[in-house]
Amino acid sequence: MAEISNIRSVKGMHDLLPASSRVFSRIEAEMRRVFSQYGFSEIRTPVVEETRLFSRGIGEETDIVAKEMYTFLDRDGTSLSLRPENTASAVRAYIEHGMAVSDPVARWYYAGPMFRHERAQKGRYRQFHQIGAEIFGISDAAADAELMHMLMDFAAAVGVSGGRLGINSLGCAACRPAYREALKSFAVGVRERLCEDCGRRIETNPLRVLDCKKEPCRAATENAPASADHLCADCAAHFARLRSALDAFGDTYEVDRRMVRGLDYYNRTTFELSAAAPAEEGGDGAGLGAQNAIAGGGRYDGLVEILGGRPTPAVGFAVGLERLAMLSPWAADPLPPAVRVFVMAVGEGTLEPAAALASGLRRRGVSVEFDGSDKGFKAKFKRADKSGAVVAAIVGEDEARRGVCAVKSMTAAMLPGGEKQAEVPVADAAAYIETVLRHEA
Ligand SMILES: [Zn+2]
Ligand SMILES: [Zn+2]
Repeated sequence: MAEISNIRSVKGMHDLLPASSRVFSRIEAEMRRVFSQYGFSEIRTPVVEETRLFSRGIGEETDIVAKEMYTFLDRDGTSLSLRPENTASAVRAYIEHGMAVSDPVARWYYAGPMFRHERAQKGRYRQFHQIGAEIFGISDAAADAELMHMLMDFAAAVGVSGGRLGINSLGCAACRPAYREALKSFAVGVRERLCEDCGRRIETNPLRVLDCKKEPCRAATENAPASADHLCADCAAHFARLRSALDAFGDTYEVDRRMVRGLDYYNRTTFELSAAAPAEEGGDGAGLGAQNAIAGGGRYDGLVEILGGRPTPAVGFAVGLERLAMLSPWAADPLPPAVRVFVMAVGEGTLEPAAALASGLRRRGVSVEFDGSDKGFKAKFKRADKSGAVVAAIVGEDEARRGVCAVKSMTAAMLPGGEKQAEVPVADAAAYIETVLRHEA
């Protein structure tokens, strides 16, 4: 069966083994803790949605929709796609469940896998994970500032602090068309210096020319008109309100005049949080660069209406979990032992007392690896050593007959009586071991 033995994970999709998944879980635990302090509740939307949700919500012209979605036909012929991000799904859910009817304000967060068929390269995955948060129903920029503050609180909680917060305003339906035209005529003037993609973007979405990562394009657009200089009075007031609200929260930020973000649905506020790369990765500017974008977001006041809901202002962000896990100091922590106690049953009539002991310990909140297999003492002690357990509890045939179990310290520490090993009635063993562990800790 040579073909079977060669099955590997799909390109760009990878396994999270315990050493990595533990970091992810700790980050998600901090997400729940911090976000709930801000009044956010978790939503979980399906991984698969109708393709038209994303083509309408994210924009046909975006790279995500045009090139990167995993799209397939369902058995009834409906075009479905794996979600490339979670905001469109959150908006769909917000509309579908009539959230806007009673109270338009909703504060939601999510965490989960997203899927984009991107070019394979280091640090880019086709199944990747995002954490994100959305506020629906508030147009005031104080909500944008609070959201950014929550994002930075969260980053600090996972040990990624000292990041740089960049903000910008993209204007609105009233003032963006004029800005778009100004940018378009500028881009036409430097067209021969732009890459092929940007040449196409001039017609389809000139704002995205500013988003191009290619150096010649960045150089060519250095003096391009900035959206912040083309805001209508309302947008200018909103942007000023954002800055004073960020000041009120005590956050430092920089206005980044060329930040446009990749998705079509943003209006007014956009923001990005970057963090310094770890030193071993070339934090001095080499490798991945001195600053890594770890989160991005913005306002998308038009999206609920675009997707069929009543007009509802909204603002949100998404964090790349892989990136955050890589920057978190937790990534370097050694994997702690999975259990504290190893319970083994060896021989006839030992399974029942040993199982009862394991259950008694687990009821007391003690983690236990149980070995009731037909292997002998030697093999089981070898496994007990590997498990990292602090204490081993052994029920052999002799012990089972006498209603006792042997308790053995697996570390240098002694048991309470000053011995390495003690014999305890099985009925008392769980309580006894709990005491031993308390001394150990
Ligand atoms: Zn405007
Ligand atoms: Zn370009």
